[in-house]
Amino acid sequence: MNINSLVRPNILDLKPYSSARSEFKGVADVFLDANENPFETGLNRYPDPLQRRLKEEISKIKGIAAEHIFLGNGSDEAIDLLIRIFCEPGLDRIIILPPTYGMYKVSADISNVAVQEIPLKSDFQPDVDAILSQSDEHSKILFICSPNNPTGNAFKFDKINDLARDFPGIVVVDEAYIDFSTQNSALELLPQYPNLAIMQTFSKAWGLAGLRLGMAFAGKAIISLLNSVKPPYNINQLTQQAALKALQNYSQQESWVQSILQQRAILQQQLAALEYVERIYPTDANFLLVKVAKPNELYRYLIDRKIIVRNRSKAPLCEGCIRITVGRAEENQRLFAALAEYGC
Ligand SMILES: *Cc1c(COP(=O)(O)O)cnc(C)c1O
Repeated sequence: MNINSLVRPNILDLKPYSSARSEFKGVADVFLDANENPFETGLNRYPDPLQRRLKEEISKIKGIAAEHIFLGNGSDEAIDLLIRIFCEPGLDRIIILPPTYGMYKVSADISNVAVQEIPLKSDFQPDVDAILSQSDEHSKILFICSPNNPTGNAFKFDKINDLARDFPGIVVVDEAYIDFSTQNSALELLPQYPNLAIMQTFSKAWGLAGLRLGMAFAGKAIISLLNSVKPPYNINQLTQQAALKALQNYSQQESWVQSILQQRAILQQQLAALEYVERIYPTDANFLLVKVAKPNELYRYLIDRKIIVRNRSKAPLCEGCIRITVGRAEENQRLFAALAEYGC
């Protein structure tokens, strides 16, 4: 597949902004090229526009060469850039698989790009035949969220593989929750499919939602397009430093994930014993989708107890459901104590 044949003409013609720090690549001591303030504040210099050190470290952990990595101001930036690169407003479409993460549609709406919805099947798996038969040359991007938010399940690996192979446009697999999943990441499919982009984030397992740092992994063509469209210094210096520090302490991330998985199992067991809990869906993420008799009432009851969960009862296929993020042991205990008292 020729990626450039999918790109908007104005993006193909774009001459990207060339910053002072991207024009000079050698070694120097005296920097009089960027109109910076010369007095040291720790932040008086512009950051590396391509975040090279950070990508080297991510590369080691993920086993993916740095040239296949893009970093964005949250995954949300990568979502927005991909839509702006590939989708001609008023002409092209994205495909999403509801119920799913809300940002794909919001980003498309902002860009005046149509959104085609192909709901998940009742088992929360993608309808591969429907997706392929309903896509054409204007279906530029398919957003797959696996493990999916809000249903919590990972999609079958074969289905992701089939879609990456047969979809006529770009296939984005959003793996924000992959660190909590027993299923393999789609990263291993990257070498086969130049139309595949995989997103991960520092916002969940890494405990850095406040940092705003998202990763996209893709072939060189897509990475090069992302780099030419992004704001020159999209990842600020403090973010680059904080992420480097987190990456040096990988075992911390692993132990958080272990603890969250343990807590998740405990919470699943406790919730199952509650009479008004009708169903706890299987999860590959750090949250549980739980079907209850009266979701709105339960949601408000918990708010009165100063406990916030997400009411997803109006999302398609999620009637009656609330979404509960797994917290620390003491937070989950407080939730469970409140839930046990509810309805008594
Ligand atoms: C939380 C989440 C993200 C993370 O987005 P950031 O912008 O990186 O914080 C991405 N995708 C999904 C599906 C999420 O639930």
